[in-house]
Amino acid sequence: MSEQLLLGIDIGGTKTAVAAVRHDGTVVALRSAPSGRGGAQVVDVAVRLAREVADAVSGLGRISAAGACMPGLVDPRTGLVRHAVNLDVESLELSSELSRALGLRVEVENDVKAAALGAHHLGPRGWGLHPDVTSAASGTGETAYGSGDVGTLAYLNLGTGLASAVVRGGVLVRGIDGAAGEIGHLPVGGDVVCSCGQVGCLETIASGSALARLWPPSRGGGRDPFAAAAAGDAAAAAAVDVLCDGVGLAIQLLVLAAGAEHVVIGGGLTGLGEPFVEGVRADLRRRGRSSRMIAALDLESRFELVPASVPVAAIGAALLPGRAPGPFLLTDELAG
Ligand SMILES: [Zn+2]
Repeated sequence: MSEQLLLGIDIGGTKTAVAAVRHDGTVVALRSAPSGRGGAQVVDVAVRLAREVADAVSGLGRISAAGACMPGLVDPRTGLVRHAVNLDVESLELSSELSRALGLRVEVENDVKAAALGAHHLGPRGWGLHPDVTSAASGTGETAYGSGDVGTLAYLNLGTGLASAVVRGGVLVRGIDGAAGEIGHLPVGGDVVCSCGQVGCLETIASGSALARLWPPSRGGGRDPFAAAAAGDAAAAAAVDVLCDGVGLAIQLLVLAAGAEHVVIGGGLTGLGEPFVEGVRADLRRRGRSSRMIAALDLESRFELVPASVPVAAIGAALLPGRAPGPFLLTDELAG
């Protein structure tokens, strides 16, 4: 019998990934390609991959609903995306463009928020059961992930920048203009001017751009900083200390301010792997040593990395249709 499948489109800063997903989050097909640049190309790449995925699963079922996510200010109600700077998109009617091309309504969301939904749905630690999606990437092999009630979950994205999103009781916390979770732009000290215009934002110590500034190619950077630090490179060691301190601070912030029971870390910096996890654990232990209150929170046990093979944002995007986008509080409504 033909089943109904969901389509999830994740338009990232470098790569676009499209997955066909069952309602329980099981990935049945996955395709990816470099993202386009500019609105028209961004949509073209997404539509091409979406058609490939639909073809790949045509023997299994039909796509009954679709969702898409991308960086920038994404309004799920109007379907409009603004300021996706890394994709050369100033303004894009993402929902209507994709809906028209694919012939079905496409819900949209910010990529970090979609990834938080995906991580919440899969459940932290559940994906360890079936982390390999290579069969799904090459055909229509199935990949199942764990699922369950995980309480309040924060997703921390460490890419070029730092952003987070919180899912509480199964609902995305949005805040004013979707700004809830933009903890990368909390000033925490230092004198580095942030891309947002403030000075000393968390993003200036805990992100890919921070690492590139702290340990630039001119001083031997551009390689694995943990390996270089272990081999005795003092500049690399100083850079990873700052990075791990910043990520530890981000985790502490998400637990204390957002009530996160789990912090799931995704994004490009997760490629640093186990030494990075160990560095962050060491920082969290250090925080616990100076405070019994912090030690009692057991921050060390609350975070983990998303395995690189799990397309968490595409899965989250696929789950957008049919769910409430979360409470809105928009500045234009406050003004009006
Ligand atoms: Zn900032």
